[in-house]
Amino acid sequence: MSEAEEQRWVTVMLDKLAAQESKRVLGDAELAERAERLSAQYFDGRARPTSVRWVTNQNTRWGSCTPAEGSIRLSHRLQGMPEYVVDYVLVHELAHLLVPGHGPRFWRLLEAYPRTERARGYLEGVVAAERLPHLPGARGE
Ligand SMILES: [Zn+2]
Repeated sequence: MSEAEEQRWVTVMLDKLAAQESKRVLGDAELAERAERLSAQYFDGRARPTSVRWVTNQNTRWGSCTPAEGSIRLSHRLQGMPEYVVDYVLVHELAHLLVPGHGPRFWRLLEAYPRTERARGYLEGVVAAERLPHLPGARGE
């Protein structure tokens, strides 16, 4: 390997590592920090979860919350999805700490998050793709 080739190889490997790093899954602590930031940004900090964490036992819902406890859980299936989608689910669950149920008041709160419609469309697309497991492109194949 020439020196120039070696240099190029090193650059490629570093790029790959950087890409892996940026796709790294958020830890629970980072998830909680993110929720705090989103609450500050969209709800004047009024939604104050006591815990925010990933769970692996939640396959039919993207997120859930227990307002009485102030706890928020996100499905691990969201890991690897675009940031704006994870943020949408966080904002959705944060909003439930303020307004239970999915009435007009709830969706009015969600209007503060500019990518609500896009994120909901993305998640609907994921569900639709899963119902067509043999379609090329489904399940990321
Ligand atoms: Zn909801």
